[in-house]
Amino acid sequence: MTEKMIIIGAGLAGSLLAIYLARRGFSVDVFEARGDMRKGEVAAGRSINLALSDRGIAALREVGMDEYMLAEAVPMYGRMIHSENGETKLLPYSGRKGEFINSVSRSGLNIALINEAEKYDGVRFHFNEACVDFDCNSGVVRLGSGNRVSGDTVIAADGAGSVVRQAMEHQIPDFESYSVFLEHGYKELHIPGRTAGGSPASNAKRSPEDRFLLDPNALHIWPRHRFMMIALPNFDGSFTCTLFLANKSVPPAATAGTDTASFDRLTDENSLLNFFDREFPDAVPLMPTLVEDFFTNPTGQLGTLKSWPWHVDGKVLLLGDSAHAMVPFYGQGMNCAFEDVRILDSLLSEPGAVATGSSVDWKVVFEQYAALRKPNTDAIQEMAEENFYEMRDATADRVFQRKRALETRLERTFPDYFSKYSMVTFREDLPYSVAKERGNAQDRLLMEICAEEENTEDIDLTSIFTDLQKLQLEEIGSKR
Ligand SMILES: Cc1cc2nc3c(=O)[nH]c(=O)nc-3n(C[C@H](O)[C@H](O)[C@H](O)COP(=O)(O)OP(=O)(O)OC[C@H]3O[C@@H](n4cnc5c(N)ncnc54)[C@H](O)[C@@H]3O)c2cc1C
Repeated sequence: MTEKMIIIGAGLAGSLLAIYLARRGFSVDVFEARGDMRKGEVAAGRSINLALSDRGIAALREVGMDEYMLAEAVPMYGRMIHSENGETKLLPYSGRKGEFINSVSRSGLNIALINEAEKYDGVRFHFNEACVDFDCNSGVVRLGSGNRVSGDTVIAADGAGSVVRQAMEHQIPDFESYSVFLEHGYKELHIPGRTAGGSPASNAKRSPEDRFLLDPNALHIWPRHRFMMIALPNFDGSFTCTLFLANKSVPPAATAGTDTASFDRLTDENSLLNFFDREFPDAVPLMPTLVEDFFTNPTGQLGTLKSWPWHVDGKVLLLGDSAHAMVPFYGQGMNCAFEDVRILDSLLSEPGAVATGSSVDWKVVFEQYAALRKPNTDAIQEMAEENFYEMRDATADRVFQRKRALETRLERTFPDYFSKYSMVTFREDLPYSVAKERGNAQDRLLMEICAEEENTEDIDLTSIFTDLQKLQLEEIGSKR
């Protein structure tokens, strides 16, 4: 059976999908709007590094790419909270050993996936070939070059601004698509590695402490309520910082003081440095190119995009951000897109996937896929939005900090206890929707306890664990 597949977009999901489909012996043509990033044409304004966690790793593992990617990843064991006075506090992601997230280079990962896909004879990448339209009746893709291409089916992995999704929106009467943008945008900034006089080869051998200006094994957060900055380590010793800030100032009458900080108020060096000196005093000395970076780098926008249906008969399927872009605050957009690919591939092994004869019944496969994935992508999209407020506000809140400490102790003591964060991040066997429902119930109980109890060290863990287990039994009972 040689299916002829068309993939739109050679980003993270499209490139991984090409590998999965090629392994099945399918012929795969990938059309990418941008130039070949292996030739140095990496677009500005895209996140430079990303947090890769278990769902993404599981998808990479199936195609033998996990160890390769993790070799140059920097493990992050928790959130390092930076308060206004420069004090830091580590909130571990998990109480269990071996549960951490990994900072990886976006372009490094994307290039590795393209290189791997190209090892298969059946895969061809076509760069600088943007899809400009898609015909839902014929399944024909129109390219910017004027060429028209078609295959047995088309999978659109063309990201949040998907042209294919927009074509579906125009052509399918019941198509629903809506996006909600945050009032906050983001800007990437830079903390360089510790400089050393030696050669690049000798520098690479230096210990992490010797290469990084901040603790390399944490995701750093400067939570400031209406805005925040985060920093993720890069393998070369530098950090990529991301400032999340309102695009426009709210009317001063409605708020007070620093609440009015916004991108539109940081218009010159003076206002920028005043803001950073006041809000992030411990970071400023580490950011020698702050002014240049701030005024050169683009301000990105953040939003949640939902769409439905994701497929038209067996002709086309939306996958990854094109179907369900989310805000980046759970570090799951790419992990979820990789999970999409793994689940889609697993359905191709189901008996019903093959129609009479030998070809794949894409209509059946896409229907099953969409029904399975939609409740879960809805769940992670909602959790990602909630996590913005958790990172921005709650990480600085004492009750929340006590709750995280209690959860860490619970995880250390009871191997069967998983916090919501752990279920989302470290349990690839658990659907996002279950993680959300169970996690919210647990959070309500633990927040109540921590609001009343200032000293969580004295709390009887066994009785809490029993109450948490009861919640799980109630959840199972309510589904019967
Ligand atoms: C600031 C920020 C930080 C993030 N951090 C994380 C994180 O830590 N962890 C995580 O898991 N996720 C993170 N994400 C989310 C993650 O980046 C996305 O979910 C992921 O890139 C989705 O992959 P994708 O392949 O669906 O889309 P994309 O990666 O956007 O790829 C789409 C591809 O399609 C191409 N394309 C677009 N239009 C066309 C067209 N018309 N024709 C042909 N090709 C086209 C694009 O050039 C691109 O190569 C973050 C996102 C942002 C914005």
